[in-house]
Amino acid sequence: MYGIEYRPVDFGTVLGLDDAKEILQAYLRQDQYDPAYLFAGSHATGKTTLGRIFASSILCENRKEDMSPCNECSSCKQFLQGNHPGYIEYDSALSSNKENVQRIVDSLQYEIVTRYKIILFDEAHNLSKEAKEVFLKQLEKESNIILIFCTTEYDKMPETLRSRCIQFQLHEPTEQNVCHKLEAICKHKGFEYESEALTTIVRATGRHYRDAENRLRQISFLGPINQENVKKATSVYVEEVIALLLNLSYDLSKALQLADFLVSKMNIKMIYNWILCILNDTIKRSSGVSFSGRYDELLKMMQKQYSSAAYEILDYVLSRSRLNDITLFQSDLLIIHYKFLCDALAPKELKDLSKKENLDESKSDDSKNESDQGGKSIKDIHALPRGHREDAVREYRLSRRKEGTDDTLNERVGEAWGPEEKGEKAPLIHRTEISRKEFRKVLEGTLDDKT
Ligand SMILES: [Zn+2]
Repeated sequence: MYGIEYRPVDFGTVLGLDDAKEILQAYLRQDQYDPAYLFAGSHATGKTTLGRIFASSILCENRKEDMSPCNECSSCKQFLQGNHPGYIEYDSALSSNKENVQRIVDSLQYEIVTRYKIILFDEAHNLSKEAKEVFLKQLEKESNIILIFCTTEYDKMPETLRSRCIQFQLHEPTEQNVCHKLEAICKHKGFEYESEALTTIVRATGRHYRDAENRLRQISFLGPINQENVKKATSVYVEEVIALLLNLSYDLSKALQLADFLVSKMNIKMIYNWILCILNDTIKRSSGVSFSGRYDELLKMMQKQYSSAAYEILDYVLSRSRLNDITLFQSDLLIIHYKFLCDALAPKELKDLSKKENLDESKSDDSKNESDQGGKSIKDIHALPRGHREDAVREYRLSRRKEGTDDTLNERVGEAWGPEEKGEKAPLIHRTEISRKEFRKVLEGTLDDKT
């Protein structure tokens, strides 16, 4: 497991958590300690790692300049081998009763080899109420025992105990923190990798260091760390989610087909998370944040089609989405589609076009004729009574969509549906002449405009 292989053993290799590190380093510099420390934070935020480094450094005979343990002296060696006489690590999930805890505290009481004795309680919220009371008594005594509690459930630690601890609330790492870590592992292991593939891994594992590292290891067995292999290992179908969003404004049946496909591959919560990620990134891109490679091209399509409507869809998804029910997920899609049809989403898009059409009409009679031939104009649509308007808007959006260029995404995601579904899938609305090879070039941004 990479989680263990790449677990930091000094402050320098712990990514993020700068505030907590600074305070711990200050304690070590003064070499004076409080009797109890509490590290709280969600799954895999580095609580136990930081607690261990702190403990190991307290015991170290020859600390480094940044107050990290040297990892070379006899104390550090014993610590790393897990047999330091002054250090006990206790998984509170295994046995949480009072007697066990009392026994551990007592056993260190009579240990005289080291100056400080440290007990680290992992998952400390699991300790029984009586066991927690043992600590309260212990903390009232003058002693050279240092207690370190690590917990994912801060609220389950009694207030009386919390208030006697120096507390650290550790926050989740940023996407960048975890990406850097994966990148470092790839470089160290000599893996071939794409940065955007690493980002996908990080997002698919909810920014958890340990989960992301394990997933990376799993993918490395498949070959290079690229989107293709990441897709196989993480069941994250980013392109399909984007295609779903793009189709949603004008082609409900295609959108629902994609939704069915996605539901068969990912859980609903993850689909919603990706919808949010993609909408966020579309908005970020339109305000100048840069993305790279294929993902950037896909976001560009989103930006082109939705512009400011991305905010509105985001707002809707945030206020309405249910995280784990297929029927409700589909209902959400139907409602979003309906909102597009009756102009409740992205009305600006149609209004702008309407303005443009008015200008064109006044400019020349030719364009008027064209729009007469090409079906209803926006002005006509707006004049229709409610109930008749929806079909006209759908038709209109579809015709605008045909004029717009890129249906290659639909073709591409069609490939992912597998042989059985391929025969049954709905006919594509508009096929372009572009070959798969050329399409790849478009996505990579290397296709010459003239070709
Ligand atoms: Zn040392």
